[in-house]
Amino acid sequence: MTLDNIKEEIKKAKTIVILCHESPDGDAVASSLSVMHAIKQFGKNADVVIPEYSKDFKFLPGSEEILQKGKDEPYDLAISVDCSDLKRLAAGKEYFETAKKTIEIDHHSVNSMFADLNYVDPAAPACCQVLIGMFEYYGVKIDKDLATCLLAGIITDTGGFQWGEVTPETFEFAAELIRDGAKIKEICRRALRHKSKAHCELEKIVYERLEFFEEGKVAIAYLTLEDYKKAEAEIGDDEGVVDMIKDIEEVEVAVLLKEKEGVAGFKVSLRSNDEVNVSDVAMLLGGGGHPGAAGCFVLGNVEQVKAKVLNAIKQEMNK
Ligand code: AMP
Ligand code: MN
Ligand code: MN
Repeated sequence: MTLDNIKEEIKKAKTIVILCHESPDGDAVASSLSVMHAIKQFGKNADVVIPEYSKDFKFLPGSEEILQKGKDEPYDLAISVDCSDLKRLAAGKEYFETAKKTIEIDHHSVNSMFADLNYVDPAAPACCQVLIGMFEYYGVKIDKDLATCLLAGIITDTGGFQWGEVTPETFEFAAELIRDGAKIKEICRRALRHKSKAHCELEKIVYERLEFFEEGKVAIAYLTLEDYKKAEAEIGDDEGVVDMIKDIEEVEVAVLLKEKEGVAGFKVSLRSNDEVNVSDVAMLLGGGGHPGAAGCFVLGNVEQVKAKVLNAIKQEMNK
């Protein structure tokens, strides 16, 4: 069974690296730290390598151990969490590719199963929820620190139990994590509700730029490199901006185009209420994600990218 094989590989490995997707969200950082905490219980240490992440996640227990770079020599084992594709490991790709053995733990349904051992549950609303099941199987003790990380992943990926594949089981897991000492108030305040001033500046720009299509069902806005500079934005300051677009009256699909440095294109964030599967939209454009939240990268200027994305949304709406 995959779970037994994963445990076997962890026990065998002398050096282990944990990696997650680029522009990591709360689930990516929290899953990485959760695996690190669990591996310590196996009497081992693992390097968590995340080159850049939002300061909103620095309250997570163990985050002070996060490294920007890994070791020069190849690792015995690389574990990828919350990442559906080798490409999205970005800077972590080199550690993954040179590792002697590789493991993927994830919850994205569009998944390239890119590791030697893949443990993927698309029914889970967060990678952290997949980990809870694994840890139960392994008999890992859920202490206060681990509980805080696991709950942070679930809360950030579901927008506070609002979207994604939230089921009664998710609440049962959350209740248990709170009993184990997870700091729910701090998680909600710091990882969910906290907004930097730069984030508010970006929100202002986005409200001014909103354009509606398809009888108001599609709302699109964009942020340029110049906007990020003017707002003095740091990594993660644009997190959640697209979700605010989704809540506007009549909107079914929210789109935020975020210009990327040095690549002549935009990172596209897609969100949907119920009617449209944005993961299928993202796939048409070479990306992926979940039915309600997905993303991709599209080359071109604002108008070109907007047209390509709108076209893909229309295709999906007319299906
Ligand atoms: P974001 O808009 O970056 O918050 O991403 C929303 C969801 O889509 C997350 O679950 C991401 O992991 C996923 N996602 C974003 N970009 C891509 C991509 N290029 N390929 C596959 N999945 C993506
Ligand atoms: Mn993620
Ligand atoms: Mn996730």
